[in-house]
Amino acid sequence: MADSIFLAIHDLRTVWHPCTQMQDHEELPPIAIRRGQGVWLEDYGGKRYLDAISSWWVNLFGHANPRINGAITEQLGRIEHVILAGFTHEPVVKLSERLSALAPPGLGHCFYASDGSSAVEIALKMSFHYWRNRGETRPHFISLANSYHGETLGALSVGDVALYKQTYEPLLLKNIVVPSPDAYLREPGEGEADYARRAFAHMEEALARHAHEVCAVIAEPLVQCAGSMRMYDPVYLSLLRAACDQHDVLLIADEIAVGFGRTGTLFACGQAGIRPDFLLLGKGLTGGYLPLSVCLTTDKVYEAFYGEYQSLKAFLHSHSYTGNPLACAAANATLDIFRDDDVLTRNRALAAYMGNAAARLADHPHVAEVRQKGMILAIEMVKDKQARGPYPWQERRGRRVYRHALERGALLRPLGDVIYFMPPYVISTDEIDFLVEVAEEGIAQATRD
Ligand code: PMP
Repeated sequence: MADSIFLAIHDLRTVWHPCTQMQDHEELPPIAIRRGQGVWLEDYGGKRYLDAISSWWVNLFGHANPRINGAITEQLGRIEHVILAGFTHEPVVKLSERLSALAPPGLGHCFYASDGSSAVEIALKMSFHYWRNRGETRPHFISLANSYHGETLGALSVGDVALYKQTYEPLLLKNIVVPSPDAYLREPGEGEADYARRAFAHMEEALARHAHEVCAVIAEPLVQCAGSMRMYDPVYLSLLRAACDQHDVLLIADEIAVGFGRTGTLFACGQAGIRPDFLLLGKGLTGGYLPLSVCLTTDKVYEAFYGEYQSLKAFLHSHSYTGNPLACAAANATLDIFRDDDVLTRNRALAAYMGNAAARLADHPHVAEVRQKGMILAIEMVKDKQARGPYPWQERRGRRVYRHALERGALLRPLGDVIYFMPPYVISTDEIDFLVEVAEEGIAQATRD
């Protein structure tokens, strides 16, 4: 019979965990999970953990969701997988029609991959190839400081989180980075929208100078998630859309983390009323069940690739599991829940509750800011509240909160010293209260000395 300790010992002999210094497991072995239900995960000893980060931001409607379970089981009885080149199947056709109808108008073509980083690679390659097909070679991208778009080499090139990027710098594409509209950086008393407008001047300047050599601008709409959950005003996106049009550069909206209701609207771009040229979705697309991502794009882009095979116009990119039927069935079930349950209205109420419940944490002498967009709430711990001076990163204060939370039964994996809640949408108000309490205790402990 497997138990937690047995599994952890065997795990550490063979499993190399993602985004982990494996030596850390000498003091804190991996926790083996036996089952999940709703927002809760349960280990082999029966201890439960509230999954406050939706298992890396993927889970929307809870673990073991009966509707998604049912849809996958049903699909299993039909076809588990079939090549998507030259063949198709009902779940992928249905999903593509539904995504195109839900996305900002005009994004009618869906190219699938398996994870977020691959969707980013697709958008980068497609935008480069688009200009090639129009007779131009534009070798660069513009991206925002502090952005994150995944870990594959192309995605890493347009990201800007040093922790993940700096080692690989010699391997990466050259990329033009402009300052982020991140509202944490605004002057005291300055409004978020004013700061976003001010930050936009850098983007405007970069576009004016480099448009002829830039295929696309890539950005995470509203929240730079892996970049410490930094947030910005939607006006930046409106300005960005207008400037990309003016300078004839494509716009890639990476909504892999913020799509599907996370920020209060189905897609974050909706808050700026814009349509990007590429909309990237992943993570919550399958409700957090199976790896699936998609790059949606416009007729204009699609048509630039349409023609004779010999012309090398076609987008000859593929992944083995492109459009996997089980994953598409999970995604269709996820969209059914959005259609039937008025999820966004409930989310708005839950988000308001979460904001009120966590507001008091801003008074803590080592909390610089509590910020929120919809169902993402982040608490930034600092050494010096007045000057917003961070703790030396080696002190790993956030990790102390993580450990405390595990003891108390919550999974609150931080981003450095930023503690955040990004829970499944089926969380209750009592469970939110519990999370706030655990975070408050953890922050008190982690900042004591
Ligand atoms: N883009 C964004 C905005 C993300 O947050 C992530 C993952 N955290 C990715 C891309 C990469 O997705 P994946 O981990 O599925 O490759």
